[in-house]
Amino acid sequence: MDQNSQTASQQNAHGAGASPSASTGSSTGGNTASFGFRAVPETERQGLVNKVFASVAGRYDLMNDLMSGGLHRLWKRELITLLNPPRGATPFKLLDVAGGTGDIAMRYAKDSGPNATAVICDISPEMLEVGRRRIADAGLESRIQCIEGNAEELPFANNSFDAYTIAFGIRNVTHIDRALAEAYRVLKPGGRFLCLEFSECRVPVLDRLYDFHSFEVIPRLGQLAAGDADSYRYLAESIRRFPPQEKFAGLVRNAGFSRVTHRDLTGGIAAIHGGWKI
Ligand code: SAM
Repeated sequence: MDQNSQTASQQNAHGAGASPSASTGSSTGGNTASFGFRAVPETERQGLVNKVFASVAGRYDLMNDLMSGGLHRLWKRELITLLNPPRGATPFKLLDVAGGTGDIAMRYAKDSGPNATAVICDISPEMLEVGRRRIADAGLESRIQCIEGNAEELPFANNSFDAYTIAFGIRNVTHIDRALAEAYRVLKPGGRFLCLEFSECRVPVLDRLYDFHSFEVIPRLGQLAAGDADSYRYLAESIRRFPPQEKFAGLVRNAGFSRVTHRDLTGGIAAIHGGWKI
């Protein structure tokens, strides 16, 4: 069967066999990792992900609105509400990993006091370039810094941030456990971890509509609006490969976080996981 003709549920990794990271062992020697529904050599996966974001960067913000009907804005607002950054003069440092074109950091900067700063760390120079332009247009350069780096090996000292956010980023990382360990390392004791990610839709009928939207509508929209169906097919497939709510909460706990919680958004299409470094 052609990989693209398999149904979402056949390919869904939300079942018992879901791997804690995108990586899986291979009996033929050499590790493989899931890139959407394809198994690829683990060492090649990040390069393929980077190509996707290099290709979509210019249309990323427009496509987010088209694909989600603007819902991503509400979900991101919910993330910042949960973060509850200080509105007074208290200094506060956020690290937004896989921050891309800057939505989370800019929303945070607008909703917080003058001494609240953010660092966006993203592996894609193309996404960061769009982010830098938007941040400059919004006059937020003095509060938001953009740094190129890998979530699995963050270029920051231990215990250096008050909060860590990652929105729609962690499913793109090859070793999720390493990214979570890095989140824990760079947070100060008492620091907050928040992850917004697509998750398992748990509302009957909505789940079917969502599958149709993901596999029939999104790649076509990607072709029409950005001339790139394949990248958008990867985005939809990678969502189905990501562990469901409880399983991901277990990974966050395994990284050392305490008081781990998760909250479904729009019937579980997305979820926010939170935890604390105690
Ligand atoms: N957080 C932004 C948002 O919510 O709009 C962007 C999310 S976008 C779907 C995923 C981002 O993850 C891309 O900008 C991509 O470059 C970044 N990314 C992928 N792998 C990464 C890694 N290993 N380390 C850091 N960033 C990564």
